Amino acid sequence: MVLTTILSISLISVTLAGMIIIAEHLLNNYGDCSIDINKGEKILQVKGGSSLLSSLAGQGIFIPSACGGKATCGLCKVQVLEGAGPLLPTEAPYLDQAERTAGYRLSCQVKVKQNLQILVPSELFNIQAYKTKIVKIDELTHDIKGLRLQLLEPDRIRFKAGQYVQLYTKPYGKVKDSVFRAYSMASVPSDDQAVELIVRQVPEGICTTYVHQALNEGDEVRISGPYGDFYLRGNCEALIMIAGGSGLAPIRSLILDILEKGLPYKMTFFFGAVSLRDLYYLDFFKDLEDRYDQFRFVPALSKPDPADNWHGETGLITEVVARFVEDGSGKEAYLCGSPGMIQACLSVLQKKGITEDKIFFDKF
Ligand SMILES: Cc1cc2nc3c(=O)[nH]c(=O)nc-3n(C[C@H](O)[C@H](O)[C@H](O)COP(=O)(O)OP(=O)(O)OC[C@H]3O[C@@H](n4cnc5c(N)ncnc54)[C@H](O)[C@@H]3O)c2cc1C
Repeated sequence: MVLTTILSISLISVTLAGMIIIAEHLLNNYGDCSIDINKGEKILQVKGGSSLLSSLAGQGIFIPSACGGKATCGLCKVQVLEGAGPLLPTEAPYLDQAERTAGYRLSCQVKVKQNLQILVPSELFNIQAYKTKIVKIDELTHDIKGLRLQLLEPDRIRFKAGQYVQLYTKPYGKVKDSVFRAYSMASVPSDDQAVELIVRQVPEGICTTYVHQALNEGDEVRISGPYGDFYLRGNCEALIMIAGGSGLAPIRSLILDILEKGLPYKMTFFFGAVSLRDLYYLDFFKDLEDRYDQFRFVPALSKPDPADNWHGETGLITEVVARFVEDGSGKEAYLCGSPGMIQACLSVLQKKGITEDKIFFDKF
């Protein structure tokens, strides 16, 4: 009797499991789907079932994304004219009413289940995937590393100072998936056979732990790019640049590019850190200050350690900016750092008379 019951239960379980597998296969088997880009400019054939973001990437079309498809950065917006299905709650926070009306969606959240019609800016077709080799890793601070990636294939990149690439991890340790994250170029665009990145370790962060603990000189890494609209506009006489932590990366690229091209802007670069152990590239920027009259470097510590023996500026970077900048007219501001730092700086700069359309930033 007991044996019959066990056998019956086992049979029912096996049958149910089989039905679930068949149902899953039928429900998730969307077959081949087409993605029509820019009304016939390109038509892709893809296998249904993946996100629009990864389906496009699989065909060499890279939509900007910093979070790797987690719906936390809101960068991968694409205008979908047909075939996307209803808006998901995960997308709602990133799309205002005008964008929703125009059909914008987060491409990481849209699953390709049928034929789609989308619109993307044509310049995205210039974004490429690159095979690179790490040729140098520098310990810049206790939690920030500088990397130099030699391009292998293709062997040159064209980018604007301030833009970023996506870096793809390989499985390591207990992390079985490959993810990608955004990192701004710290190098100058004329150095086009390599890119330099500055990566701050985020505790428990998947990509930064990969970079800090698994990557070694000589390793190959995949990147794609360039992405982003954080680059010089230059409709002004002077520039204010503000960075915190690894936010120094795109600002360094901008400053080097401007000096190298001999553009006449006066520049003041405010670099904020907590204590001396968080500052890096001090000598590098002091040397630029000595060599170029148009460039001023203002490093500042918010909580210098007594042992730091710090004689420079102290206070939050916003306080230092407020002390130094008298009048914002004729100036543009370029900011890069944590969302909190950017928000605080926006209000200080606006009080100094720099209007919102003259302030550009990348939040890390
Ligand atoms: C346009 C752009 C350019 C960027 N450029 C750079 C750059 O040049 N250098 C650089 O170091 N970073 C840069 N970032 C941030 C970078 O893309 C990653 O978000 C960051 O390195 C964390 O990735 P992770 O995989 O290690 O962490 P994840 O695994 O994604 O996150 C782990 C945990 O940490 C939290 N977290 C994520 N990011 C941060 C953070 N920055 N600070 C504190 N907590 C966080 C998450 O909420 C999560 O709980 C840039 C971001 C953007 C949007």
